[in-house]
Amino acid sequence: MLVLVINSGSSSLKYQVRDVEAGSVLAEGLVEKIGMGNGGEGDGQIEGPRDHAEALEQVDAEIHAALGDRTLDAVGHRVVHGGERFAEPVLVNNEITRAIERLNPLAPLHNPANVLGIRAISKKWPDMPQVAVFDTAFHRTLPEHAWRYAVPDELYTNHGIRRYGFHGTSHEYVAHRAAALLDVPVDEFDAVIAHLGNGASVTAIRGGQSVDTSMGFTPLEGLVMGTRSGDLDPSILVFLGRAGWSPEDIDAMLNRQSGLKGLAGNNDMRSVVEASEAGDAKAAMALAVASYRLAKYIGGYHVAVGGAKAIVFTAGIGENSHQFRALVAERLGALGVELDGGLNRERSKEPRVISSPSSAIPVLVVPTDEERAIAEATAAVVTGARI
Ligand code: AMP
Repeated sequence: MLVLVINSGSSSLKYQVRDVEAGSVLAEGLVEKIGMGNGGEGDGQIEGPRDHAEALEQVDAEIHAALGDRTLDAVGHRVVHGGERFAEPVLVNNEITRAIERLNPLAPLHNPANVLGIRAISKKWPDMPQVAVFDTAFHRTLPEHAWRYAVPDELYTNHGIRRYGFHGTSHEYVAHRAAALLDVPVDEFDAVIAHLGNGASVTAIRGGQSVDTSMGFTPLEGLVMGTRSGDLDPSILVFLGRAGWSPEDIDAMLNRQSGLKGLAGNNDMRSVVEASEAGDAKAAMALAVASYRLAKYIGGYHVAVGGAKAIVFTAGIGENSHQFRALVAERLGALGVELDGGLNRERSKEPRVISSPSSAIPVLVVPTDEERAIAEATAAVVTGARI
């Protein structure tokens, strides 16, 4: 089955064509600057597609050669917010599209773009089966004591203010691969998974299910990220509001100017590690803040899962930065965690154990592949729907 995986952003459209049975990638690309630049009258501004429909025409042209005489069987969409309703990937129809649209207020930057992507496909290929795969869905198993904020109930009942969690597709995929690597049935797998990319979150897995996760109402809560602050005292926002900052100023500061960038002036982990090794004190402190925060979460989630059988690193930083993994592991000494320095530094695209045999908890690196997970989920839903 050939599945086109779409990750539709407000001004970009990332795609991959996957052969699900072969596990291969036939084509991939990124269309950028959607809705930007074409409005100018010959001002030499950047040229971009006018809208998502036009971007899709570009994708269609780009994948044409790669497909040869084969045709797409389905489209799988990465949808950021599934709210409380969606616990599984679903076959898209008009009602589902409207339901995703109703969640726009919860993810104003992401869900409207996801809906535009779905509508563009419906218009171009009306008979194409489409599946929505939600970033929040895997965390629908969180117990209420983990998803509740201790605020008046009315905020939850009237405004949907609760913890939802994100990166679910990645955490679920990595949980399955890590369990397989350790030869444990996934429904008996208790672990802590750290997805460390530009966005970062850590999830407590008990019996293969998510029982806690560090991102909350939005993908801002939790760990120190590339440009996002993660946890802080909410009174800081009140303080800044009283000092005249607008909601937009606060939002930009927390989401785009904080994290590694705020602390070290750079949001790329490679540069921060290099600067720290060259003696830059701010970079060293940024790494210390980020690794300390993550180690605290791992310690807490070790408790949440009743004793983790594995600690798993994934995504850009988790898969590639042996320096950051070492900093985190050093702080986990009280749990009996011990890395094997040689295994930790090894470069590989394969899932692997990087702890020493005497480590009380095995530490793993498991590459994530969200597109593959979305393609497989799409194929499963479409095949199931045909029976
Ligand atoms: P992602 O969002 O999963 O693509 O991850 C992006 C993050 O991974 C950025 O902070 C990069 O600096 C980091 N990253 C990618 N490759 C490496 C590498 N070889 N060493 C350290 N960090 C890396």
